[in-house]
Amino acid sequence: MYDEVRRTDPEIAAVLEAELGRQRDQLEMIASENFTSRAVMETMGSVLTNKYAEGYPGKRYYGGCVHVDEAEMLAKKRAMALFGAERANVQPHSGSTANMTAYLSVLKPGEKILGLSLSHGGHLTHGHPVNFSGLLFEAHHYEVDETTETIDYDRLREQALAERPRMIVGGASAYPRFWDYEKLRSIADEIEAVLVFDMAHIAGLVAGGVHPSPVPHCDLVTSTTHKTLRGPRGGIVLAKKSFFKNVNKMNFPGIQGGPLMHVIAAKAVCFHECMQDSFKTYAKNMVENARVLGEELVERGFHLVSGGTDNHLVLVNVAGKGLTGKDMEHLLEHVGITVNKNTVPFDKESPFVTSGVRVGTPALTSRGMGPDEMRAIAAIMDEAVRAREDEDALAALRGRAAELSAAYPLYQELV
Ligand SMILES: *Cc1c(COP(=O)(O)O)cnc(C)c1O
Repeated sequence: MYDEVRRTDPEIAAVLEAELGRQRDQLEMIASENFTSRAVMETMGSVLTNKYAEGYPGKRYYGGCVHVDEAEMLAKKRAMALFGAERANVQPHSGSTANMTAYLSVLKPGEKILGLSLSHGGHLTHGHPVNFSGLLFEAHHYEVDETTETIDYDRLREQALAERPRMIVGGASAYPRFWDYEKLRSIADEIEAVLVFDMAHIAGLVAGGVHPSPVPHCDLVTSTTHKTLRGPRGGIVLAKKSFFKNVNKMNFPGIQGGPLMHVIAAKAVCFHECMQDSFKTYAKNMVENARVLGEELVERGFHLVSGGTDNHLVLVNVAGKGLTGKDMEHLLEHVGITVNKNTVPFDKESPFVTSGVRVGTPALTSRGMGPDEMRAIAAIMDEAVRAREDEDALAALRGRAAELSAAYPLYQELV
């Protein structure tokens, strides 16, 4: 592997090799990351990257699209089958452009939207002022309840009735609980708003049947393909039939130019993988691992936002341990565990410091780790916090983390 780039560009070859080493050696627990298959990577590294294909299958602005048309049709057909969706657009370059496509397909700039606040688990693209979604639209935000730390749908309804947004967006980047789609739907219906759900984080759980699906309840559903779906970096928009024409027009020519055909073909490979029984097992294991990790952390006195998890991640409030999220991220990195600092609801620290860390199981579950390893990792985390001033103890913990990752080899065929 990397033979040609090693010959022509040793500097970048060194980066590729070092990053492969990092992915192998660390315990990757960033909830939005995963290890995609060799088949997905091969497809992404294929000749399809050479092809311009503006437009849609059968209606392109370029000749020579017969083969890439086949790839895109397969990706669409598989996405619709996997999620039981009426229609699918598989061209968005990312989760963010999938959201931009969805919003602009139903809204005009200046209209009102209502999404979960970023500091309560939402995403930048759900109306944050620095993002297109906050710049182009009048964004309002709902929050979680201070006591339960779960979404307060009664409060959300009151807000929707008072503010009357044209669109409600559900979904999150750091929310460990199931969503109540029926409630979202009835609130949206009451004010005749469009209901969009962004399942970027949980799409793999939905595909694997271990998380309720937003698809039957929502007008538009957006997702990334590289998080729990374990595919190439990219996005999709699933739509009810009556919304689809606008989605297509808005993605191209509205927002994007030529589609990334190598990535679209790799999305097709990913969706095919997700239809296999082995993926259902994988999805079940991600959730089981997060549950065990969470329980073990609670037993050691950590506070989990909402008290636990229904999905692939836990949000740990470490303030009670006398640390900030930033401290905890650095401490864990020091012992070989990669996580990200994350605001917790009603956080008193700034977004650069935070009081929490978000810990996810998708990547380690892809390596084959199970409940025993989650118990071992919870113990390492706890001991690291307690021994945080003791460099020898931390070195020993780093050794234990390295042993765990060495026991589950990654990309063995790559040298
Ligand atoms: C990750 C994520 C996105 C953005 O995806 P990118 O591919 O990084 O643009 C959008 N929405 C949610 C909820 C996410 O978690």
